[in-house]
Formats: sequence, C-alpha cells, structure tokens
Amino acid sequence: MTGSPVNPEPGDPGGRVRGVITVDGPAGSGKSTISRLLAERLGFVYLDTGAMYRAVALAAGRKGIPLDDGERLEALCKEIDLSIDIIGGRPRFFLDGEDVSRAIRTPEMDMAASRVSAVPEVRKAMTRLQRRIAAGMNVVAEGRDMGTVVFPRAARKFFLTASPDVRADRRYRERLARGERVTRESVAAELEARDRQDRTRSVAPLRPAGDAVIIDSSGLSPEGVVAEILRHLDARS
Ligand code: C5P
Repeated sequence: MTGSPVNPEPGDPGGRVRGVITVDGPAGSGKSTISRLLAERLGFVYLDTGAMYRAVALAAGRKGIPLDDGERLEALCKEIDLSIDIIGGRPRFFLDGEDVSRAIRTPEMDMAASRVSAVPEVRKAMTRLQRRIAAGMNVVAEGRDMGTVVFPRAARKFFLTASPDVRADRRYRERLARGERVTRESVAAELEARDRQDRTRSVAPLRPAGDAVIIDSSGLSPEGVVAEILRHLDARS
C-alpha cells in the first residue's frame, strides 16, 4: 500500500477529533446509504471501510491465499495498492489500478470480507490505512469498529441497528434489484452468519462504542435517519 506515514489520530486540543463522524452497525442497518447521504449533506468525505476489507478478500482470492493465513495476508496488504476515487458523485474502488467496485459486491465477497477482517494482521493494516486517508480531512467513517478502534476519539459517533427482519428484507430487495436469483431465507441466513462472525471475533468485534448514539432505523427512511443524526449533531455543536 502506498501513501505517507501514518499519523496518530489527529485531534483538537480538547482531545476529541472534530472532523470525524463514525457510523457503525451490522449489515443491512442502512449504514452505507445513510453515511453517503450524511457526507453529502455536510460536505464531508465518505469513507466506506467495508469496501477495503472486500478488496483485500478479492485480492487474496485471486492469488489463492487462504483467508485465514495471517502471514501471507499481511504481505498482501503491503503489496497491493488500494485507492478510492469519486466518479459521478459515487466512490469507486481501485485495486492495483483496476476498478473493482462491482467485483467486491458479490455474495461471496460478503463472507470472504468477513473472514479476512477477523485476521489481526489485516485489521492492523486497514486501521493504519483508514487513519491515513482520514488525516486532515472531514470524514464520515462507516464500518464495524470506527467508533471503538479506528477513531476512538471521534467527537461524534453513531451506531445503527434494525430488526433482523428489516435487515434481511433490505438485503433481499437489494440483491433482487441486482438481478440475482436468491431466496429471502438464504439471504437472512447469510446475514445472520456474517453478523455472528463479526460480533464474536476476538479483534475489533462489532459493537457500539460506549459514547455512541444508537439509532434503530427499522421504521425510518434513510432521510429520516439522516435527519435524526443531524439533530444530534446540531444539539451538540
Ligand atoms: O460493510 P460491508 O458489508 O461492506 O463490510 C464487509 C465486511 O467487512 C463485514 O462483514 C465485516 O466483517 C468487515 N468490516 C470490518 N470492519 C469494518 C468494516 C467492515 O470488519 N470497519
């Protein structure tokens, strides 16, 4: 991976990082849509950290590296070049110069990303990269461990939840819209398996930071959730 040396989390004199808003939560909680809308509204950069784990999983699969081989995955993270560009208002992800934005969104990559993300060497490399990208910028950082591990001093943290049924419905509709032939049952089962893996891993498990605002998005539209987040931000500024 290329770039300048990692800065420690940049902070203001009060010890809190003002330019970072963290949004964590399980798959299907609405994180991505909401983080993108929120970043647009605030003029912040949207940092989709799940896409980074997906790109590592894709690169590992292409090179035949087992998804739990810490040593080889660590070397892979050093060797690959991951970059993000905004094209037509949407982030696009590049792996060694190739646009992999579509290739990282397959159901296989959902599970593969979750597997590589449990490997400590991969988490270390991604945490460094995420901090480096965010340094000196205003970002909405979206993922599983943004508020707990990557930006623990962020001044504004949110954790999105939604009922298992709502999350499964959202994912099912998304996948139908992509033209995939899936059953709702299989989507619900995959989602549950991935969440269990993300919540129970020993490094940086999915959980809300102690100082995060928890928002249940089950009965809300994306705009409704963004409005609620903006209300919290206004109240605290
Ligand atoms: O958010 P998304 O579904 O794209 O994330 C894919 C996988 O990457 C998650 O299931 C999780 O295992 C992993 N991930 C992570 N930490 C993050 C973001 C994603 O472990 N900050």
